[in-house]
Amino acid sequence: MSPSSKLMVGNWKMNGSLAANASLVAQLLEGIGAVSCRSALCVPAPYLAQMQHLLTDSSVDLGAQDVSAHASGAYTGEASADMLRDFSVRYVIVGHSERRQYHAESDATVAAKTQRALAVGITPIVCVGESLAEREAGQTEAVVKRQLAAVIQTNGHCISEIVVAYEPVWAIGTGLTATPEQAQQVHAVLRSQLQAASAQATRISILYGGSMNAANAADLLAQPDVDGGLIGGASLKAADFLSMLKVASR
Ligand code: PEP
Repeated sequence: MSPSSKLMVGNWKMNGSLAANASLVAQLLEGIGAVSCRSALCVPAPYLAQMQHLLTDSSVDLGAQDVSAHASGAYTGEASADMLRDFSVRYVIVGHSERRQYHAESDATVAAKTQRALAVGITPIVCVGESLAEREAGQTEAVVKRQLAAVIQTNGHCISEIVVAYEPVWAIGTGLTATPEQAQQVHAVLRSQLQAASAQATRISILYGGSMNAANAADLLAQPDVDGGLIGGASLKAADFLSMLKVASR
């Protein structure tokens, strides 16, 4: 698929079972037909082997939801970038707000995780986004720029290899969505920050995430700097995810 086509990524979060995954993927692959957008599913680590098998020979890429900031060693419970690569993982989410919030991940940790993924050829999907309090205090731009700057500082030489996801924290899993104009405004800020860092940054995909669904996807994806979506809840329903893939293929 062309790197300029939209990229639609499902984030299953901590949902699924062997049986439920098999059923969801069967429905997806049956209905996917000739969509022209790029797509991926970021699944819980225990299901990577199953999903590697289920997605073989399909147009849907495999993704993980996190990666260790370390290459190997005494880090109980973590999975390294090399381990993810063993399962043909193409993308890994780093810096999701749920990890920043519940696991105290700092900007520096997110930058290190990005570096580990890039080192083994996995595309990191770097999440940035402001809380409601930060938006209300007029700090949206400063927050997302600070989060992205940490990643650029550590990975400047290969920054064109990342994907960025703008995910306003107040929109994740809440049913509240940024308006297309709000999303576009932040995406344009991120785009110019990336372009200032690298001449090759024009090809970086900037995804929107936060209660994206089959009803609002078209308006969000119509914005000039919205290159795709990172989709949580709606990616767990085959029919919804499929209709979003179709919208993204127009
Ligand atoms: C997410 O988890 O990245 C996300 C955007 O979730 P939701 O679509 O459910 O808001």
